[in-house]
Amino acid sequence: MIRRFFSYYTPHKKLFMIDFFSAVVVALLELGFPLAVQWFIDRLLPDGNWSTIVSVGCGLLALYVMSTFLQYIVNYWGHKLGINIETDMRQQLFQHVQKQSFRFFDNTKTGHIMSRITNDLFDIGELAHHGPEDMFIAVMTFVGAFWIMLTINVQLALVTIIIVPFLIWLITVCNIKMNKAWKQMYSDIADVNARVEDSVSGVRVVQSFTNENYEITRFTKNNRRFRKAKLSGYKVMSFSNSGIYMMTRFIILAVLIYGAWLSFNNHLSYGELVSFILYVNVLFKPVDKISAIMELYPKGMAGFKRFIELIDQDPEVVDQKGATEITYLHGDIEFEDVSFSYDEHKPVLERIDLSIQAGETIAFVGPSGAGKTTICSLIPRFYDVNEGRILIDGIDIREMTKQSLRSQIGIVQQDVFLFTGTLRENIAYGKLDATEEEIVEAARRAHLEEFIHSLPFGYETQIGERGLKLSGGQKQRIAIARMFLKNPPILILDEATSALDTETERIIQQALNELAMNRTTLIIAHRLATIQNADRIVVVTEDGIAEEGTHNELIQKGGIFAKLHQVQYEQQGV
Ligand code: ADP
Ligand code: MG
Repeated sequence: MIRRFFSYYTPHKKLFMIDFFSAVVVALLELGFPLAVQWFIDRLLPDGNWSTIVSVGCGLLALYVMSTFLQYIVNYWGHKLGINIETDMRQQLFQHVQKQSFRFFDNTKTGHIMSRITNDLFDIGELAHHGPEDMFIAVMTFVGAFWIMLTINVQLALVTIIIVPFLIWLITVCNIKMNKAWKQMYSDIADVNARVEDSVSGVRVVQSFTNENYEITRFTKNNRRFRKAKLSGYKVMSFSNSGIYMMTRFIILAVLIYGAWLSFNNHLSYGELVSFILYVNVLFKPVDKISAIMELYPKGMAGFKRFIELIDQDPEVVDQKGATEITYLHGDIEFEDVSFSYDEHKPVLERIDLSIQAGETIAFVGPSGAGKTTICSLIPRFYDVNEGRILIDGIDIREMTKQSLRSQIGIVQQDVFLFTGTLRENIAYGKLDATEEEIVEAARRAHLEEFIHSLPFGYETQIGERGLKLSGGQKQRIAIARMFLKNPPILILDEATSALDTETERIIQQALNELAMNRTTLIIAHRLATIQNADRIVVVTEDGIAEEGTHNELIQKGGIFAKLHQVQYEQQGV
């Protein structure tokens, strides 16, 4: 895991070296400063040579300027290193998620992917920057300071070191408590966020039930819990800081008294005493740093583990070795003995046989949950079949590249997803390199022209979350315009108009009929009136394909379809 973590440094080796080297030099200068003071007091002061003192002062100034410069490098370039690694990981994660198959998204919550891409990576970046560098510097400073203290006076050094185990004990105990508190806090703030998201996006429901107070009460509970957790973390932190402060002051005092006594007995010079006290500070500084890393490490590593977990998931549907790039499909589709299930225990499709001719319009009807959408999801290989095979133009779809296969299939669903952006961008999503004429033509054929002309900004109108809200019918027409641009030989309409009122549906139906022309079209429909003109109707039930035939044939047969038709006819007068 650690080795994997360090592999992310490789592209930024140079940056790491510069940063690390600068940090070491800064630490060495810090380490040497008390020695310079000692030399100043014990040697230079008794000599009383003013010009030497001035030139030594100038020398020190030069060192300080250099140290300042190096500290700038450590600060800026060190953070740059952390940010670079964070950005690399984010890029990798996004690209990885884009390639995942549908089953991955069935099983992974959007919120979790989001928190990995944002929060987790921030913690990892912080660790990447501070972890190795600060740890090395802390150990180096601690060992260096203690070694110099030993050379100044052994007894005094030993007195100082006595406190270290107590310090470590205090920091460790407090850290464990603090980690627990922070973990609780993270989970509590996630709950608070979830509450906010829920009641804001559901505000219309809340207000129509006048349940505002209920929501406020629930929120208050979460908000208080968060406050409690965060507060208890800060309580431990304050206690730990005070404890560290008290222990270090105590030891400085002890060094001062014991050092004074040693000095009276001529075992220690004034300069040595002053420098020693300065070293006590240098010695304890890394203790703070190490405790900070101890906080950073579990957070960053936990994030990294979650990151790796995602990165190591391979997409399920991949191109076979030697898969062919197809450029054009005629559109003959053949299901041969196809079985499929989302999870092992519950088969959805069992031994389905179905053949669809190029250019045919075939409709699927049947109760919801029967597997109509599933049948259609198998054609673009959103999922792979468990058994049997699906052929298009006589070729097994697994022998085609995923990309070229999907470029030949267009899907319009009930929910149209609009991206934040302009109307033009949303239409052009069907063909990213579409020309102006093509976009206008597609909009015209999707019966969008009039609507677009009525907008003050026309094609440049912003839509989506903060832009113009579109009606279901308008959204559906954008989806149809996308399809005209994509112009695929195979078209799937999955309840494309089911959410619309009958009047809107009738208008959209014209555009859809035009779209379906000269393509193999699979329509899943809820209202049977919309599929009267289909070449063939397939009735899908939980037991598989139950009936197949033209509208009239199925009515005459008097089976499931005839019954469904009868019920809808009575309800809606279709
Ligand atoms: P239809 O489109 O005919 O309403 P579906 O094909 O959507 O039916 O669903 C068929 C069955 O598969 C249902 O029992 C449904 O619960 C299940 N199902 C659909 N999608 C998934 C999925 N992504 N993961 C697991 N089960 C699913
Ligand atoms: Mg469905």
